[in-house]
Amino acid sequence: MIRAGVTCFADHYFAMDAVAEVVAASGMRALLGEAYFSSQGSQGREKSLEFALRHRGTAGGRITTALAPHAPYTVNDADLAATAELLPTEPATAAVASAAFMELGALICTARAPRCQQCPLARQCAWHATGQPLPPGPSRRPQRYAGTDRQVRGKLLAVLREATGPVPASRLERVWHDTVQRDRALASLVADGLVWQPAPKQYALAGDAPGEAPSVGIGSGRS
Ligand code: SF4
Repeated sequence: MIRAGVTCFADHYFAMDAVAEVVAASGMRALLGEAYFSSQGSQGREKSLEFALRHRGTAGGRITTALAPHAPYTVNDADLAATAELLPTEPATAAVASAAFMELGALICTARAPRCQQCPLARQCAWHATGQPLPPGPSRRPQRYAGTDRQVRGKLLAVLREATGPVPASRLERVWHDTVQRDRALASLVADGLVWQPAPKQYALAGDAPGEAPSVGIGSGRS
């Protein structure tokens, strides 16, 4: 997509954590959702919601999220109806309402600190009206990012994205102190096809490999 000049996309399917990781590393902007089927039961919907809450506003605000019922042939009428009941019946108005809900979630009703005093839905909000009770059961801890392989992969990709040619391994060694973790992250980028080796101990973005169209940069560093 980047080589074709696409800078913003919408996607829903599975392995969306990996998609979010690439969005964060590449500088793109995206609307993402973790798809669910009715056959997954309530766990599918909960996983979709958990993804939406965990990733919304991440990547410096470049990721917007949504619930993602997969399709009319995999999500039953009851689940689709429950979703549709939340929206106006007129299609154009429903589209505007969907965008408004996403903005509300990004700016007002945030997961960690909802700004109920400024919320236009405060009078209709059951959670607010009942005194904002804590959810039953153990609280879900947000997925850690700092110190993970995902963070290391992002740092390695950032160096390669800014470079104008192949980068020697010695330069990549500076981005992360833990040799084992850095080597593991770099190997996974090669295995995933995001990075290639034009020579031993040389690395470049996969888009710069022979036979590939040249990479199109987003932001600074490449053109
Ligand atoms: S009133 Fe309800 S919908 Fe509005 S910000 Fe608070 S929790 Fe979210």
